[in-house]
Amino acid sequence: MSNLSVPLQTPNGHRYNQPTGLFINNEFVKSSTGQKITSISPSSEAEIVSVYAASGQDVDTAVRAARKALNDKSWKLMSGTERGKLMAKLADLIESKKELLASTEAWDNGKPYAVALEEDLPETFNTIRYYSGWADKLHGQVIGGIQGKFAYTIRQPIGVVAQIIPWNYPLSMAAWKLGPALACGNTVVLKPAEQTPVSILLLAELIKEAGFPPGVVNIVNGLGREAGSALVQHPDVDKVAFTGSTATAREIMKMAAGTLKNITLETGGKSPLLVFNDADLEEAVKWSHIGIMSNQGQICTSTSRVLVQEDIYDKFVAAFVAHTKNTSVVGDPFNKDTFQGPQVTKSQYDKILSYVKIGKSEGATLAAGGEAHRGDGGKGFYIQPTIFTNVKEDMKVYREEIFGPVVVVTKFSDEDDAIRRANDTTYGLGAAVFTRDIEKAHRVAAEIQAGMVWVNSSQDSDYRVPFGGVKQSGIGRELGEAGLKEYSQVKAIHVNMTSRDCKL
Ligand code: NAD
Repeated sequence: MSNLSVPLQTPNGHRYNQPTGLFINNEFVKSSTGQKITSISPSSEAEIVSVYAASGQDVDTAVRAARKALNDKSWKLMSGTERGKLMAKLADLIESKKELLASTEAWDNGKPYAVALEEDLPETFNTIRYYSGWADKLHGQVIGGIQGKFAYTIRQPIGVVAQIIPWNYPLSMAAWKLGPALACGNTVVLKPAEQTPVSILLLAELIKEAGFPPGVVNIVNGLGREAGSALVQHPDVDKVAFTGSTATAREIMKMAAGTLKNITLETGGKSPLLVFNDADLEEAVKWSHIGIMSNQGQICTSTSRVLVQEDIYDKFVAAFVAHTKNTSVVGDPFNKDTFQGPQVTKSQYDKILSYVKIGKSEGATLAAGGEAHRGDGGKGFYIQPTIFTNVKEDMKVYREEIFGPVVVVTKFSDEDDAIRRANDTTYGLGAAVFTRDIEKAHRVAAEIQAGMVWVNSSQDSDYRVPFGGVKQSGIGRELGEAGLKEYSQVKAIHVNMTSRDCKL
């Protein structure tokens, strides 16, 4: 066994070799400084493994590898059909290892194993498979009908792409970014979040096994302020694609300005869920719960503000509190009954509990939860599902993204008031509307300032449908055909057909 992998056993019994190196040029290598980051299981608080963390010098090595691969015939001249085949093979390999990958995801991140297996993994291999089909369908246009000439466009890769991803969906966030980038023929340096470095190194092994040429995909674990910022500032990186907090996105925009890099950003939210008087109350309650408590409340689109029309407010709150208490089984991610595992890290756990304190001190009513939940042996970063009612619009818990299982519920009077309140935020990621009135549903969906609106559901995400935010929730779109536009550039070619005068 090389000293760049260690034998591990997941809590549900998978024995495997965990790579620990940086993945550059299809090889696992040590970091130049020997620096490592240690991954902690959020349910047991025990160390899982330490992996190498990239320095600025390692980032430079990875970027050089990506640049060389971009210009190498093996990738540059590969047909879209061949690229698509490699991607389809990768999707198949991921699917064939889905149990192991879901186990490492649950172990490292704390999400329930069943969710990782049934939702995150299919999202990962289906996204890669979906984009594999696009790889040979990226065409330009012919623009005719111009006297004396014709023009055409071709779509070319942007170049070396830096991709920086968060810890809430390590594998599927990687797939959302790798899929369109590879379909369009770019090369990539991907930096996973330092909190969840484990599963992505297994993905790296599969990338090599699928047959991608060396340097096409490089994966460098490391700290945001060190490896992440070195990547964003690197002069030979052409594009930065980022998912994470709005605060970091602001820093990234500033750093990327140095060489005017192309950027796409997917950031935070405080997404509203509107329940009108005429809604199916049972459905609204069910989806309100899913909308905030899924993935431990750690979803950028979580519907963390529930706005209910005043006539049904009391009835809704009573049903929502009862449903949440009955459904949100908090506990070990590997227990099959668990709905909600631990928060990803101690610092996220502390941050969420501090928001609960703030909510209480601001005078909101704690209708459910509000405490830590102790796991086995008193370990684990678990928090009870928490509902605040009687929330005012100027409260911090109403305005700021908490990124945990904490929801605020408040009232609105009529449709105009609902829209005004929904839009009263600097964010604009998702929004949900519950009503049986089809005209109202479409009217409200059009008026809400958000990149995505769900009618009578929440958190619906699909690799075929564009995903992204407006206002301070992001720039650009991922997924669907729209996701491809972010990874290719259009070149226009004018062809003179006559000896016409040199006049415009
Ligand atoms: P973050 O924005 O700090 O981290 C996201 C990614 O950016 C990580 O890979 C990180 O290493 C990297 N990064 C951090 N600082 C960087 C820098 N200066 N330059 C380049 N890369 C950098 O998010 P976090 O600290 O892990 O979580 C904090 C908050 O972010 C959460 O509480 C939540 O509100 C939000 N968040 C949002 C999402 C989302 O999907 N939109 C995901 C995770 C976290």
